[in-house]
Amino acid sequence: PLSENDAIEDHLITVCVRKRPLNKKEAARKEVDVITIPSKNQLIVHEPKNKVDLTKYLENQLFRFDYAFDETCSNEMVYRYTAQPLIKTIFEGGFATCFAYGQTGSGKTHTMGGDFNGKSQDCHKGIYAMASADVFKLANSSKYRHLNLVVSSSFFEIYSGKVFDLLNNKAKLRILEDGKQQVQVVGLTEKVVCTTDEVLKLIQKGNQARTSGQTFANSNSSRSHAVFQIYLRSNNNMQKIHGKFSLIDLAGNERGADTSSANRQTRMEGAEINKSLLALKECIRALGRKGAHLPFRVSKLTQVLRDSFVGSNSRTCMIAMVSPGVNSCEHTLNTLRYADRVK
Ligand code: ADP
Ligand code: MG
Repeated sequence: PLSENDAIEDHLITVCVRKRPLNKKEAARKEVDVITIPSKNQLIVHEPKNKVDLTKYLENQLFRFDYAFDETCSNEMVYRYTAQPLIKTIFEGGFATCFAYGQTGSGKTHTMGGDFNGKSQDCHKGIYAMASADVFKLANSSKYRHLNLVVSSSFFEIYSGKVFDLLNNKAKLRILEDGKQQVQVVGLTEKVVCTTDEVLKLIQKGNQARTSGQTFANSNSSRSHAVFQIYLRSNNNMQKIHGKFSLIDLAGNERGADTSSANRQTRMEGAEINKSLLALKECIRALGRKGAHLPFRVSKLTQVLRDSFVGSNSRTCMIAMVSPGVNSCEHTLNTLRYADRVK
């Protein structure tokens, strides 16, 4: 597996996979772990032949990515090889994006938002907080201090094709595209931030808004894309964005399969999620290809990220999350096949 001595590679598009450990419930019912990570960039799914006899496997399926993180990898390790190498891009005036993709329960929010109670002590930081901390550090460094950059953050959710401000009581927001093809989320709260503690408070506030009023069975957060953005603006001209990092906790990809549900609302949400995830894949692939078609208007998600896809200095990273258990096998394979086609 990956070790801290492994080189950090320089890619326009980085695609990697993270396997979480079996959780207590899965371990208690002795669920079989069907995933092995034999090297720093390979993952094998040992798909059982049938659901009755789990000891008989189909041919093993091997996938290759830029990095494969096994269940012993910390959020810090994942960050080091995924989002951290993209930070310099935004200081150089570019756009960076980092996506967490995978089925509900696979570890997207754990990786991006982290697990904590809003206090910096006793907190399991995620990529939002670690990226913010590095942005503060660089903004004050001798290399970039002369740029007089102001750091700010926003946090919103895209649910069923509508945009909601997670830092302002889930206010519903409009998207405006001007004549110069600039896309704006009108009235989006953008808070100036200076310390990691301030950022942690914003994340917790947003996460509370995201999950309030939900029961587990009807979890809206699994059907929404959460977008956390870090902006760099120059002190002299706050109107203009110097660079922007978008960190996205995507809707559970199994929700995209809800298109045959008996419930009309669920079906429509499923279709919307499906559409946005397919458009996202195309937009990322287009990054590395001159003159490629960008279907960014197809979904709200790709529309609000337009500047990140068209810029001449854009970099992106996708982390595909997988659950290890045999019961997740089908979704795991779907996740891996999608990630396999992003690059
Ligand atoms: P998702 O956002 O993809 O639905 P979560 O991030 O909420 O999934 O993860 C589901 C559960 O698994 C959470 O309780 C989370 O704390 C735990 N979990 C996820 N990834 C890991 C990991 N790498 N190590 C330990 N626990 C994890
Ligand atoms: Mg989540």
